[in-house]
Amino acid sequence: MIIGSPKELYAGEARVAMTPDSAVQLQKLGYACLIETGAGKAAGFSDDAYRAAGVTVAETAAALYAGADVIAKVRPPEPSEIALLQPGKTLISFFYPAQNTELLESAKDKGANVIAMDMVPRISRAQKMDALSSMANIAGYRAVIEAGNNFGRFFTGQVTAAGKIPPAKVLVVGAGVAGLAAVGTSVSLGAITYAFDVRPEVAEQIESMGAQFVFLDFKEQLQDGAATGGYAAPSSPEFREAQLKKFRELAPEIDIVITTALIPGRDAPKLWLADMVAAMKPGSVIIDLAAERGGNCDLTVADQRVVSDNGVIVVGYTDFPSRMAAQASTLYSTNIRHMMTDLTPAKDGVLNHNMEDDVIRGATVAFEGAITYPPPPPKIQ
Ligand code: NAD
Repeated sequence: MIIGSPKELYAGEARVAMTPDSAVQLQKLGYACLIETGAGKAAGFSDDAYRAAGVTVAETAAALYAGADVIAKVRPPEPSEIALLQPGKTLISFFYPAQNTELLESAKDKGANVIAMDMVPRISRAQKMDALSSMANIAGYRAVIEAGNNFGRFFTGQVTAAGKIPPAKVLVVGAGVAGLAAVGTSVSLGAITYAFDVRPEVAEQIESMGAQFVFLDFKEQLQDGAATGGYAAPSSPEFREAQLKKFRELAPEIDIVITTALIPGRDAPKLWLADMVAAMKPGSVIIDLAAERGGNCDLTVADQRVVSDNGVIVVGYTDFPSRMAAQASTLYSTNIRHMMTDLTPAKDGVLNHNMEDDVIRGATVAFEGAITYPPPPPKIQ
């Protein structure tokens, strides 16, 4: 069978779902590989690099969709891409089926099988396919780099002949995958780093990385906020008040805030309010990784960099992984390759879409003319 990756259509998207290296691995599974001309260019992979890795270059998207049995891409398909899908073909991409119900319906009507990378169950066995985590890791790292780019001072403290420079103080709000990556990057750059999460089980992890967990003056911190499955639940009003009170205390002394707080299936909680921005020093920076879901900061505007009246820079970019397209494509294409490995147990270049497999079943959102989302809960933990 043939697996192919088109050029992404979403404006500004620089990632690609197949790299020359991942193509070599896919060929070891027995597949022939196809890439649309220019698909890897923005991530630093030329057509010639693909050819050298044994990949055939298709001149148009239509030729790619017609030639490939499996289409692997990054962003959810555009309607024009769904139109190119043929019955029995398999599409693998981020899909967000809950938000893209019409798109899912039209993929099903086309008779295509759809594997949503965002629906891979987050169980140990599937970590190698967990593209949400690999992209969140990049976003967390890049958020700190972006903060540094906007911040007019050093992260680390220095004693120089020209004067003593205090270290920057960074607060990371939300310590999931992206938040922990931000904590690690901030600590490695020498900033005094604080982190907060409603899940107190991350406190030890934060402190082992050289950062300080922000404890609240709230007696039920150890129970509140933690939900089943390791994800956060909305906080009680009392807990939220205690959290906001602590943030208000911290705001005047914090130089950089990186917010990553999300609650599955909901808008991002507003945690860094306008009065906290107003209390920060001019030149302070807020990077809001929750911008796509409405933002954790009152002043965030998705995809924009705004400056508050008191000179605080608020960055709401939603494309941090794409801003590191080479790294993101390398990791994402590896996640895809692992998915293909599980779909090809005989390594014979033939897709074996085993719906009895919890991971494959969980990620499959359309199959053989039916919508298969939401999946039943996984049996294996
Ligand atoms: P996420 O992107 O959904 O949320 C980011 C963080 O925001 C979470 O840590 C959450 O607790 C936090 N948050 C929510 N409301 C908050 C508030 N009011 N204040 C402060 N923080 C708040 O999370 P994620 O990065 O996808 O990870 C969520 C969990 O899933 C973590 O426990 C993570 O370790 C786990 N996980 C497991 C696997 C696996 O086993 N394969 C893979 C990835 C993640």
